[in-house]
Amino acid sequence: MQPLVFSIPMRTRFRGVTRRDGMVFEGPSGWGEFSPFPEYDDAEAAVWFRAAVDAATGSWPAPVRDTVPVNCTVPAVDPEAAAAIVRASGCSTAKVKVAEAGQTLADDRARVEAVREAIGPDGHVRVDANGGWGVAEAVLAVAVLHEAVRLEYVEQPCARVEDLAAVRRETDVPVAADESIRRADDPFRVADLEAADIAVLKVHPLGGVRRCLEVAEQIGLPVVVSSALDTSVGLAAGLALAAALPELPHACGLATTSLLDGDVVRDPLVAVDGSISVRRPQVDPEVAARHRADPATEAWWWSRFERVREVVEA
Ligand SMILES: [Mg+2]
Repeated sequence: MQPLVFSIPMRTRFRGVTRRDGMVFEGPSGWGEFSPFPEYDDAEAAVWFRAAVDAATGSWPAPVRDTVPVNCTVPAVDPEAAAAIVRASGCSTAKVKVAEAGQTLADDRARVEAVREAIGPDGHVRVDANGGWGVAEAVLAVAVLHEAVRLEYVEQPCARVEDLAAVRRETDVPVAADESIRRADDPFRVADLEAADIAVLKVHPLGGVRRCLEVAEQIGLPVVVSSALDTSVGLAAGLALAAALPELPHACGLATTSLLDGDVVRDPLVAVDGSISVRRPQVDPEVAARHRADPATEAWWWSRFERVREVVEA
């Protein structure tokens, strides 16, 4: 089957986007997904391309588990909507977006309290600031939110690795690094500077399942595998990584197909009772055709595909 450019509406605005566009293509090993965010330059997109080629032509490590526990993801919505997302998910871990531009700590607190209420006392509530706080602001916010709902961990409270380390010294709440690993020249700096307790790894920004497994082995931190708003094709790679890790102490951020209003496979990778079964669905031509991008979007992706392929092959 020919490579396909998809464009799928998001159920909720996330990361400032309302549609998720990308390409899927087939190789001897199965389908790979190439869907770097539109603002990424060709050099950054090239790493995603390598991950897609790895999925389509490479081999994935053997799984050591057949289901992967996952968190639901709560965008920066109001408390009622946040609680509804948690209840509908069936997950016992929730990742809540905080530090959204234009919102206050009171907004974050109201949201995490609604999530705690919905998930119950035994559930886990983690927050993700996407680097949105300064050090002092992060220390205060983490203290307030932890006091309110007991946090499992705080993900990427500040943008800089040095600042993550500073926050970590000031709080008992574990700090997870995400952007500091996947968008860094050196993913191991987080460990060198003792800036995090947990490493969030994403297959596409790190260049593929096997490369990610190497990072996981070398970084010496517990790993949470997450996806990047992928279709089930991209998600299958994250699932393969999570299934292959020797230890998996935290729920993974792989329940993201529910943020998309559609998929390119007939049997999407969705969580049932808080876990996803490890498998690799393939693109269904009929289903995928429903989400085929318009000609202008197709042309844009094909030109990006060709440019990035040149970068990779150079
Ligand atoms: Mg994150």
